[in-house]
Formats: sequence, structure tokens, C-alpha cells
Amino acid sequence: MKRHAFSAAAFTGALLGAAMFASPVVAQDEEQFITIGTGGQTGVYYVVGQSVCRLVNRLEDANIKCNAPSTGGSVANINGIKSGELDMGVVQSDVQYQAYNGTGNFEGESYEDLRAVFRVHGEPLTVVARADSGIEHFSDFPDKRVNIGNPGSGQRNTMEVVMEAMGWTEDTFALASQLDAAEQAAALADNNVDAMVYVVGHPNGSIQEATTTVDARLIPVTGEEIDALVEEYPYYAKATIPGGLYRGNDEDVETFGVAATFVTTAQADEEIIYQTVKAIFDNFDNFKRLHPAFENLDPEEMVSSGLSAPLHDGAARYYREQGWIE
Ligand code: GLU
Repeated sequence: MKRHAFSAAAFTGALLGAAMFASPVVAQDEEQFITIGTGGQTGVYYVVGQSVCRLVNRLEDANIKCNAPSTGGSVANINGIKSGELDMGVVQSDVQYQAYNGTGNFEGESYEDLRAVFRVHGEPLTVVARADSGIEHFSDFPDKRVNIGNPGSGQRNTMEVVMEAMGWTEDTFALASQLDAAEQAAALADNNVDAMVYVVGHPNGSIQEATTTVDARLIPVTGEEIDALVEEYPYYAKATIPGGLYRGNDEDVETFGVAATFVTTAQADEEIIYQTVKAIFDNFDNFKRLHPAFENLDPEEMVSSGLSAPLHDGAARYYREQGWIE
């Protein structure tokens, strides 16, 4: 039976509490299982999770077994960590901020036990439209068929903020579909939607699929409403998707975006989080080679910016040892 490391930790705590009755204490070298929430299989979170697990599973003395299944995305990962189904997860920086502070879709339910571990790659809000859709700019969305993302995904969460800023509702569009990230490219190619929206690192399999199976363009997301969002919220920043990454898209495209971050809960065992970050940062060149979106990552920046929840104690211990934080 699968056993979560953190429920195992709680179990150990219960045993220690009962130690006065001479209960046995769980052996330290017992295997611990951890589960990392990711996103769709054609996104970058999935690669982050698989890459972290690959390094963690290789640790010789730690005896941790890590797996990183595909999930609905950022909001689903926060909910999974909260419920104890996941031990860690990848979430957008805006979702991390909102969940910790109880704002946006998390209004009134601040998750104070949320803990940051590190920031990963940048994630621009990426709109891809069929070349025959008549969409040249994001503001052309009204009356088009748009995939606004599955509930539970980070893009859906961000799209809701953007739609409100633009004065749009789902009725503004001819169709507001809610397909999962991994289904979007096929829907675009099959002409079931005019545009897809994905908050994601580049390059990635999903946008590659969309632009190779049909003539499709990356679309600018700019304008005074977007400027106002970037001005108002600390976790949004202007972003440029470089030209030349995808077929038929040679020009840079202006948009705005967030960062992907790695999070856990205050209940997570300190030693496991310490071993997890150690596995990554002791083998950082190896980690960076696992995806082109990791190319420009710098460890000191990853642990000091883009995080709104407090650092987990186990992560902070390793970063302090490295001299990356005070
Ligand atoms: N940003 C997306 C989300 O939060 C996932 C992107 C990815 O899987 O790389 O749902």
C-alpha cells in the first residue's frame, strides 16, 4: 500500500507520543514515499516533477521513493497538498500568492501552512490562435471560440483575472471550453476552438503540437488593462516569448506572465524537503539539462525571488548551508 511520507511523519509523531507505553519506534531507514503534483503531460511542470523525482530516487542513503503524476495544474496541486494527497507540487507564483494570502479564487481561505521551496522557470500567458481565426491580438477574443482552461489549472485562474480586467464573461465568447492543457492543441487542430490559452514555460510540447499540426500563431497579450494588472499585482510581469521557437512564429511576442514555483506544506518532514532540495541543487547542471526552459536558472535567484509563502524549514536549512540566504 502506498504510504505518504508526511502521514508517515505524523504517524511517527503519534508513536513517539505513545513511547511512554514502550511502543516501538519506526525504523529510520524505512522507505518514504513522496508525490509531487505537476500538470498536463505536454507541459513543463510534468518535466519539473519527473526531473526532481529522478534526482531524489537516485539518493543513496535517503531511501525516498518519489513519483510525479500528471494533474489538473496549479490550483489542483494546492488543493492536493492541502488535502494530504500530494506532498509537494508545482504552482504558478500568482496562485501561490493568492492561496497563501487568501485572495483571488482563495478569498477568505488563506492557506497559512503553505511553504515555498524554490522558484523555477518563467511562464508567460501564451495565447495560440488558428491562422484562419481572425485573431491578431488578444482583444479580438469576443465572439470567438476560446479554451479558457480546466478548473484547477493555473491558466484558468489567471484567465479569470484577465477576463474580469477586460470586462469579459464566458458569454463574451462564442464558446468558452474548459479542456485540459493536454487536450488543447488537438482541439485547435481539429477546429473545435479558435484559440487556446496556456500559462507555461517555453519551449513546450503542447505549443509545439499546436503549431505543427495546424497553421497557428502566438498572439500578443498587451494593452492598458494588462498594464494595470502588472502595475497592481506583484506577481505579474511583462514577458516576451522569443521568436523562432515554433513553426511559423519567427517574431517575438509580447505578453505578461508569472513564474513556476515549487511548494509544499509546513507539515512536510524537514529531512525529506532538505534531501529533495539537496538532490536538485547538488546536481544542478544535471537538472538544467533536463529541459530547455531550465537553461537560465540560477540557484540563488531561485530561492530568493518570486516566492510569497515562507520557505520550508528543510529548504531553508540547505540554502543557509550554501550561503544563499541569511
Ligand atoms: N501553469 C500551468 C498550471 O498552473 C501548468 C503549466 C505546465 O504544466 O507546465 O496549470
